[in-house]
Amino acid sequence: MVDLDPFGSPSAYIDCLLRSVTKGGMISITATDTAVLCGVHPQVCMRKYYGKPLNNHYARETALRLIISLTALIAARLDLVVHPIFVHANLHYLRAYLTVSVSRSEANSVFKDIGYLRDCMKCGNRNAIAEYNKGEPCELCRSTYRIAGYLWITRLFDKDFVKKMSYLLDTDDVVVAQMGGLNKILFTCIDELDDIPFYFLSDEIASRLRTNPNPLQKIIEKLHSIGYRASRTSLDPNGFKTDARIDKILDLLK
Ligand SMILES: [Zn+2]
Repeated sequence: MVDLDPFGSPSAYIDCLLRSVTKGGMISITATDTAVLCGVHPQVCMRKYYGKPLNNHYARETALRLIISLTALIAARLDLVVHPIFVHANLHYLRAYLTVSVSRSEANSVFKDIGYLRDCMKCGNRNAIAEYNKGEPCELCRSTYRIAGYLWITRLFDKDFVKKMSYLLDTDDVVVAQMGGLNKILFTCIDELDDIPFYFLSDEIASRLRTNPNPLQKIIEKLHSIGYRASRTSLDPNGFKTDARIDKILDLLK
């Protein structure tokens, strides 16, 4: 395993990182340029990560997906393939873990995992698309979407890997105890719908409905009860992921 943990952006070192790892090995990438990746300086983000960020309440997930797509594209150039196995966001840094293997044929398919997010600031609608159609307005309110990407739009976790981490975690260990909540984060990752590249916040829904936030568990159970997929997200304790569109969520919780 090779760990890249520079001061600031890792983007200048990812070629070297990929060239230095043993094939079949693992890499980890830390980014502390969170302001850039979370949309405070979009032009710098485009230059360093080849994708537009979003400056909103799920920016941390968008940021991690920008790091992974940059890594996947550089890997493809080197006839390598990367697969994300774990990501997390903590304090002022973001971190992604990926496996690296050699496969020209898989590298040819790198764009099947890379696309765009569309986010409507007005009505809260959001979705992922493979191809960017600039002229297409929000299907709910006809406003212009904000666009993020391109970025990684498929899975973030190898669930078996995360399960093994949770089994191995010694909660009596002093260091682990100091990182309070680590086990809870791992369990959340195991159930997380990581194929959905964004999340909603209970506060955000409450604000749109002008009511108090529902407990997350209640929101998730309600979504399940009418046939939608729903889970918590490890990236925000107040966040939930679902394949239900914002209008369906608001109807359900009003
Ligand atoms: Zn809209």
